[in-house]
Amino acid sequence: MNPAKLVVGNWKMNGSAALLRAFAAAARDWPACETVVCVPHPLLPLAHAALAATPLRCGAQDCSGEDGGAYTGEVSARMIGELGGRYVIVGHAERRGGHAETDGQIVAKAQRALAAGVTPIVCIGEKAEERDGEQTALVLRRQLLQLVRVLGRDIASIVVSYEPVWAIGSGDAATPGLIDHALGVVAGILAFHAGPCARSVRLLYGGSVDPRNAGAILSRDAVAGVLVGAAAVVPEDFREICKAAARCSVMPTRDAA
Ligand code: PEP
Repeated sequence: MNPAKLVVGNWKMNGSAALLRAFAAAARDWPACETVVCVPHPLLPLAHAALAATPLRCGAQDCSGEDGGAYTGEVSARMIGELGGRYVIVGHAERRGGHAETDGQIVAKAQRALAAGVTPIVCIGEKAEERDGEQTALVLRRQLLQLVRVLGRDIASIVVSYEPVWAIGSGDAATPGLIDHALGVVAGILAFHAGPCARSVRLLYGGSVDPRNAGAILSRDAVAGVLVGAAAVVPEDFREICKAAARCSVMPTRDAA
């Protein structure tokens, strides 16, 4: 049970030490939601240092499916953990599409992350033509099945982000009704194949979340949080999204604790 909504920023190949300083300054008085900033690998040590005294946590945007060795250009989950990263995005549409990553490779990355004590945020979602061909449920099932089979009970420790490819960077987020439906499909697949441990999997939505639509999306019970791209590198916009998340979060009270 994790009632605080989770907001994850994906900086993609953007950001700088100056932007980290702006976030660190803004974070002194941060809305009461869980917040993670996933930065490019070289910025991770700086992010960890800049955000250490704030409620914001940092993470990375990808990791290797290998633990170490002759893999030029790769970064292991263990390295990410040692540099202070608590989360790592795996299977983002820009990696599945632009780098032809397979479900098997993504599962290996998630496994490495869990072994390193880093929480994998596994992205899944259908392309426009798959949506139009009413293939969404099939695609989500295919993207989740290996994950469930290989991770077993460890599935309980991952985060899944439903990111329809057509919504990413389009300025056109999925409607709250569609998000509810897709997350219901995801929850059903997980429950059927993974059993009760699937209930702990936090289900996020990503795709053109901005300060205007964040409240409507985050207010849905099915939505445990959001993954944010473009708006995540604009501190005021990211903060507004986190404010919406805080309004929709049930924070533990002293009596309940
Ligand atoms: C993303 O990159 O995961 C994303 C959701 O991007 P955007 O918010 O810009 O659509």
